[in-house]
Amino acid sequence: MKTLWAPWRMSYILGQAGTREGCIFDFPAAITHDKRQLLLYKDGLCEVLLNRFPYANGHLLIAPARHVADITGLSTAEAGALMAMLKDSIIILRRHLRPDGINSGLNLGAAAGAGQADHLHFHVVPRWQEDHNFMTVTAEIRSIPEHIDNTFDQLLPDFQALARQGTEDRRQKTEGRKE
Ligand SMILES: [Zn+2]
Repeated sequence: MKTLWAPWRMSYILGQAGTREGCIFDFPAAITHDKRQLLLYKDGLCEVLLNRFPYANGHLLIAPARHVADITGLSTAEAGALMAMLKDSIIILRRHLRPDGINSGLNLGAAAGAGQADHLHFHVVPRWQEDHNFMTVTAEIRSIPEHIDNTFDQLLPDFQALARQGTEDRRQKTEGRKE
């Protein structure tokens, strides 16, 4: 069984996550990360969360910081930041989890399987050659969340390094304009 990318399954998984009121992707502007909410990274344009009910260990959700439903609603800066974060997140996942492959995609609209259809988000799912039994394992999803805190701690320093780099880049640009 090789075709395991099953976005309709995400809607089930994410549907279970919607237990608290409001949008799971909306955070106060001042927050840059939050372990309790599994938020690994947030700046003014984009954010990265670990999926609380993952399809596989290291399952990330990359979203614009702004509450926007459709990809056509993104500004050029937001679209660029999301794609850059997709790239950086894959680098970080490969460094720490060494997956054999990665699935990434968008579910646009509830009909396409989006559990949180009103806030755009990319799924990034690490895959391993021997994970073809994951579907049956994750049918009893309980086994994975125990690892989420560990995975969060493992990935956070790299995302914080990205945040520091972003701050440094903005500082240099600002100083460059002054000259
Ligand atoms: Zn939102």
